[in-house]
Amino acid sequence: MKAWPQMTLAGGPVQLTDRTLRDQSRPVLYHYDPAFIEIFSHTCDLLKQVYRTEYDVVIMQAEAILGLEAAAACLLSPGDKVLNLVSGVFGKWFELFIEKYGGETIELAVPYNEAIDPDAVRKALEDNPGIKFLSVVHSETPSATVNPVEAIGAVAKEFGVLTMVDTVSGLGGELLSPEDWGMDIAVAGPQKCLGGPPGLSMLSVSPRAWEVMESKKSPLRGSFLSILDWRDTWMEKKTFPYTPSVTNIYALESVLEQALEEGMEAMAVRHRAIAKAARRGVSAMGLELWAASEEIAASCVTGAVMPKGIDDEQLRGRLRDRYGVMISGGYGELAGKLFRLGHMGMAAHPTYLCAQLAMVERTLADLGVSITLGQGVGAALASLENWGESA
Ligand SMILES: *Cc1c(COP(=O)(O)O)cnc(C)c1O
Repeated sequence: MKAWPQMTLAGGPVQLTDRTLRDQSRPVLYHYDPAFIEIFSHTCDLLKQVYRTEYDVVIMQAEAILGLEAAAACLLSPGDKVLNLVSGVFGKWFELFIEKYGGETIELAVPYNEAIDPDAVRKALEDNPGIKFLSVVHSETPSATVNPVEAIGAVAKEFGVLTMVDTVSGLGGELLSPEDWGMDIAVAGPQKCLGGPPGLSMLSVSPRAWEVMESKKSPLRGSFLSILDWRDTWMEKKTFPYTPSVTNIYALESVLEQALEEGMEAMAVRHRAIAKAARRGVSAMGLELWAASEEIAASCVTGAVMPKGIDDEQLRGRLRDRYGVMISGGYGELAGKLFRLGHMGMAAHPTYLCAQLAMVERTLADLGVSITLGQGVGAALASLENWGESA
């Protein structure tokens, strides 16, 4: 049997805290047991606080891709024009959903190491009258970059355009609020910065988004993809459209509690500080950051350009098999071009970062890259001088 890694520092799923593991391993309750109804209600309340929103929140019972497809399925009508912002693999993927549900895609794309410019969004909206929706990925995990969603949301609002925002790896790592950021449907997942297991989609839904879903010629109901079904059942009658993922809900309740105990602001500060230290470490090792500039580098993962003469299998394979550290590489069309240091959830901490940097250094030296051992770790440590003081 293959040995398990010492540390899972991938771009999600991530390692769970002992408390989360304990909480999710409680006995499985019948979903109409009053104790479970209480847990589900409490989890929805916590989610609103984590999203920092007064909008409705909906927890859909499958990996975050369900929430993303549901947004497109529930909002779009045939012929609707959608401005799809593409700065990475997930942004491009969303086009499939737009097309599947009859939308017409207008793409605004940048190279996958850059971020979308809100002025370019404005220009695209001016040049293409009649755009009804805008879709954007907040934190493009595979590109290790973030898009300025707050500014993009403001532009969308000016034009009366509804937004669908993938903040799967943004929530928890960045301080956001759907109202302030103009997010009509935001979709997050537990398995990234919140540090939970994969298996749920957490949505926040604006009043306008509900209106558009309702006023479609044939609103989507009676479907696993229906957000309206959750309003008709859970939100109105405290019933479920089908059995929810009981164990995943325990874990979600647990990670949301932990997030709120830390505080959303402190959590974002922690992710940002570790991401900065990771960048210092990567640069001090003589590697090139994947993101075109520091300002657009993500808080959840740090991308480094794959060093010349080394391939993904050598680097990540050796790191995993010899040193027990599992990290993510490039995904989709980025495969082989970069590797990513993971620092989400409990791994957004100096201990995990330094161990990770140290083992990457050892691996690179093993592979013949000329580096001075300890330089990356040293630079990261230097950047962590004020760790824990502001948080
Ligand atoms: C993780 C993630 C998703 C969900 O996709 P999976 O790879 O199936 O977990 C969607 N969007 C972004 C930006 C993500 O990071």
